[in-house]
Amino acid sequence: MRSFRLVDLILPQRCAGCAAPLAAWCPTCARSLGAPVSVARPGLPVAYALGDYRGPARRAVLAYKERGRRELAGHLGGALAAALPSIRAGPMVLVPAPSRPAAARARGGQHMTVVARHCAAVLRAGGRWAAVVPALRLDHRAADSVGLDAEERAANLLGRLRPDPRHPPPAGVPVVLVDDVITTGATATACVSALRSVGVPVAAVVALTAAG
Ligand SMILES: [Zn+2]
Repeated sequence: MRSFRLVDLILPQRCAGCAAPLAAWCPTCARSLGAPVSVARPGLPVAYALGDYRGPARRAVLAYKERGRRELAGHLGGALAAALPSIRAGPMVLVPAPSRPAAARARGGQHMTVVARHCAAVLRAGGRWAAVVPALRLDHRAADSVGLDAEERAANLLGRLRPDPRHPPPAGVPVVLVDDVITTGATATACVSALRSVGVPVAAVVALTAAG
């Protein structure tokens, strides 16, 4: 059952990308998240993004993450599910990049975990084996990374991004790390290192968007 916020009842739904009425994410803007494109960052293993972090894709990520447009999770998860089969065949475990606990609380949960769950549901409906394991957590001491350069981001995350012992990924299933945006690549690199430290190799990093 869907719960309605008061604002949904007062304001008609508008596209998060272009503000067109009647759809949360219109077909035109949906094309801004398409086939995965390889993203190269120093220190980062095989990484892909579905779109550039600008225009409708950027607005949708921000609306979902920062402005409470939670209904976008299904659309973003669907875009991820459409892209993943061209990156990996066979079963996969999706590990969402974690947010800081305070940010997650403000957003009503770990936002990429919700997107990953929608993605896995679509993959399973298509006959693929896919699971979501929130195998990483970010310490409350990590600062907001906005405005930090690559080196500062890496230092901010060092030792603060850890494997969550409560949620180990199952052995032998390829792990795909999923995130909303790759900027410097510091977050994804720290996630990959944290998983590797507990013997979990990451097969690919897939982000909704990439900046720059
Ligand atoms: Zn639109």
